[in-house]
Parts: sequence; structure tokens; C-alpha cells
Amino acid sequence: MQCYVLILLLAICTCVQCTNAKTARHSFGYEGENGPSHWGEDYDTCKGKYQSPIDIEEHLVTQVELPAIKFEGFKSEPTTNTLTNNGHTVMLQLNMTKMASLSGGPLHGNYIFTQLHFHWGSNDSQGSEDTINNHTFPLELHMVMYKETYGSFDEATRHKDGLAYLQYSMRYTMKRIRTRHLYFTYNGSLTTPPCLEVVTWIEFKMPILLSHSQIEAFRKLKSEEGFMTHNFRPVQPLEGRPVWFNVMDKENNAPVLQQTMGFMLVSMLLIYMR
Ligand SMILES: [Zn+2]
Repeated sequence: MQCYVLILLLAICTCVQCTNAKTARHSFGYEGENGPSHWGEDYDTCKGKYQSPIDIEEHLVTQVELPAIKFEGFKSEPTTNTLTNNGHTVMLQLNMTKMASLSGGPLHGNYIFTQLHFHWGSNDSQGSEDTINNHTFPLELHMVMYKETYGSFDEATRHKDGLAYLQYSMRYTMKRIRTRHLYFTYNGSLTTPPCLEVVTWIEFKMPILLSHSQIEAFRKLKSEEGFMTHNFRPVQPLEGRPVWFNVMDKENNAPVLQQTMGFMLVSMLLIYMR
């Protein structure tokens, strides 16, 4: 636990790019002519068949028992941290002597952590990208990982199994949900242009709990167009894709990871709320 707090303090101390974006170039947006319904005009791949996000209907998922997900290196102290407002989202990158990695679950091979970022809505009734039974949440965290054998993030985007995204929803509820090892998984795409269909999505059912004011802080971030009040893509057609729900409730490190991400999130919010 102390290690995680240290990571957060380092993130604050080394945050040199976390001012509101003023010079970021915008090739896509979430409103009007730049909005999601127009992405396909500039990016053919955004018109693909197996896009993300999707609505997950719990009564239609296929229950499976997958191997435990293994998280490695997430307790290690990063050498540097970079927190960036890129005009589309707020993103945290870590430099580590040995980058944190992920394996197991639905994945074949080892996946290297590269960055995490967020999607949110203009009010508490929207914000998450994937929905569950058509229900949305105010904030969603994506952790981006690339397959180690491909050597780099860019090379990994050329392969169907190149990327893995971990997805956590953020909610206000204090209701205890005892499903911390359980997750949905399906094959989809990046949720921003170029919308490449190279992502294995892993969506944990256990939420990270936040306060209203913490989530509100994201809506105060600015891009060239003004306040970034929302940055989520609407759900896309499932097109018959299977969605699996892992019911193997084996102990793994997912809860620890969630605590880590929760602390990181809170520290970033503290920065932006100054
Ligand atoms: Zn994302």
C-alpha cells in the first residue's frame, strides 16, 4: 500500500504536462463535425464490423472459467511519471525499470503496460463507453497494454491480438459488490480513431468508488474547443460477437491493482482541482 502512495506522490511531483491542453492538434472530437458519427469519413477503419464500445447484456453472455489473470510489476516504483492532457483525455504514462505486465485470463502471451486514461460524461448519467444492460457510469478507466512479442505498441496495432485493454467503471455507490475477480471479455477495437480492431477487452465488474467532486474535476479540463465535458464514443453494433463472463473466482491481484488505480486517480484529481 505504501508503495502505491509513493507512486502517486511521484506522479504529482513529476507532472509537468498536466496543464490544460492549448496546443494539442485535433483530428477528431466528440461534438458536431468532428464527432463519432463522422470519424469514418477520415478513418475507414472506424467503419469496421467489430467496433468498441458495446452494450453487454448480462443474460446473453457465455460463462467461462478462464485461468487467473497475473499482474506483474505493478507494485514497483516508476522512475518517472508523465500526466498529460492531450486534448482528448487525461493520460498517465509510467517509466519503470521493468514495465508492469499482464498475462493469463483470455490472453495468450505477456502484455506490457503502456498508459492509462479516462472517459467521462457531461453529467453523472453518462460517461462510460461499454454499457452493461444499457446502464452507463459517470467515468471509465482504460489501461492500455501491448503484446510483448510484437516489441512495441505501434507494431502491436498491426495484429489482431496486439492490444489488451483493462476497463474499470467508476461509481459513487457505496454498495459492496462481491465480484472483484469477475470480468467480461470480448474482442473489439480502439474506441478512438483509427478504431483498429486489435483489442482484447477485459472489463472488471467491481467498480472503483469515487466522490461526485472527484468525477466533476474531469469535466473542468480544457481542450482547444473549450471544456472537455465528455469524451465517450457511443456503443457500436455487436454483430454477433461472443461476450464471455469469467466466473472463476480465483484469487489474483486484480483488487490490488484496483486500489493502485484508485490512488492514482485521486492524486490526479487533486492536481486538476487546484
Ligand atoms: Zn479509452
